[in-house]
This record gives sequence, C-alpha cells and structure tokens, in this order.
Amino acid sequence: MRRIDKSPEAPESLRGVPAPDSPDDIDPRVYAARDVKERLKADQMRKCAYCECRLNGDYGHTEHYRPKNGYTTAEGAPLRTPGYYWLAYDWNNLLLSCSTCNSSCKKNHFALADESARGIASRDTSRESPLLINPAEDDPARHIVFHDEIAVPRPSGGGEDPRGRYTIDTMRLNSRPDLVENRLRLLCRYRTMLQARRLAEELVRRGLEPVRGRGLLEAAEAAIREMESPSGEYSAMLRQGHPESRHKDW
Ligand SMILES: [Zn+2]
Repeated sequence: MRRIDKSPEAPESLRGVPAPDSPDDIDPRVYAARDVKERLKADQMRKCAYCECRLNGDYGHTEHYRPKNGYTTAEGAPLRTPGYYWLAYDWNNLLLSCSTCNSSCKKNHFALADESARGIASRDTSRESPLLINPAEDDPARHIVFHDEIAVPRPSGGGEDPRGRYTIDTMRLNSRPDLVENRLRLLCRYRTMLQARRLAEELVRRGLEPVRGRGLLEAAEAAIREMESPSGEYSAMLRQGHPESRHKDW
C-alpha cells in the first residue's frame, strides 16, 4: 500500500450531485461512473489502493473507504446500519480497488479506535479515528513495513502500530497466497537487478568491460527505477528494508 495523490477536483459525474439523504437514495451509477473510475485509476497509477496489484482489464471496483450501507467492527460482528450513506458520492471517500480487496477483504469493515466517536448519527466524522489506513490521506509507510515479502505493523509504543495491524489483517495482506507469491516474485527480480547493478558497476570501475558494463548498468538502473516507482506493482515493499535503494523521491 502506497500513498495516493488524488486529483483535488472531483470528476464531472460527482460534481453538483446532492449527497444522498438516506441509504435508499444511493444510485450506483453516480459513484461507479466511467469518469470516476478512470480518474481514480489514473491517480492510483492503475493499481489497487490496498494491495497494489495491477488493475488490468476491467475498471476495478469503486470502493467506499467509509462504507455506505453499513459497517462491522470485527470479523463475525453484526452488520450495523446505516452506514455513511451521505458520503456515497463524496470524492474524498472513494478509492479504486481490486475485486478481492473490495468483496472478500474490506467488505463493510470499518472499526474506530474509539467507537464512541462514531459520527453516523450526527453525520460528522471529524472526531473519528479509523483503524483502516486510507492511502489517500495517510502515509501507509508510517504504519506498515515489509520484512521481505511479509507486511508487518511498525513497532509503536512498546507494541505494534494498531492501524498497521488492523489494515494487514482486514485486507489479508499476508494471507492471500497469490498476493504473497506475487510480492515474493517481484522481490526476487528486484534483488537480481540489484546484483546486476553491482556487477556492472564493478566492470565499469575496473575498466574490464566498459562498454558492455555501461549497457548492463543502464539496463539494471532502468529496471530498478521502474520497480521502485509509484506505478510499480507492490512497490511499497521495496521502499523499506532495502538500503541499496537510491531513489528517495517517494
Ligand atoms: Zn487489491
């Protein structure tokens, strides 16, 4: 999960549309409009907001950070209604996610650090402290680090970061075999490229293969830059724990 810089202005389909007055007023054609998904997809570098998989083919799911229909505070806990229905078209509440993150992981989960601050009745969320990281508002790197391909909460106050823990568990960032395997594959490719770069630098430095060495160096640099870039799939993992990373423009 990486920080997302969303466009400040809402897409055309959301502009001037009154917020729903009740859960029954929600029209999915508004928040799932093509221009909404296209803008989110561009802002998110064509990646799922939560797991960072590449959104190929379809447009992905418009995900409501604060769930619009109802919420649960823990796995197996009852669904409480209503949800944050008035935020159904709110640009600041929308993200794009893959179907697994949306339908199998996030679902209606939305726990708060302090349940008494829940702002649904008052339609005022300013006192809420959500446990789920919102990559459009929070820097996920402050809460989650990676030990190789495994996501772990940052240490915090003698324990672990509660938002990191909640997000990892809710989005099942370590318990989806395909996702973990994809991260591991990327990590292997990344380390191979780091090794290739070291070798190329050595060849150039010693003047052994200056031309071929320089070619290899450029190719390795380009591959590393692409993998580490914000558009790189699962690139949050490459941000920490890799002292060889030379690109600090995260
Ligand atoms: Zn996802």
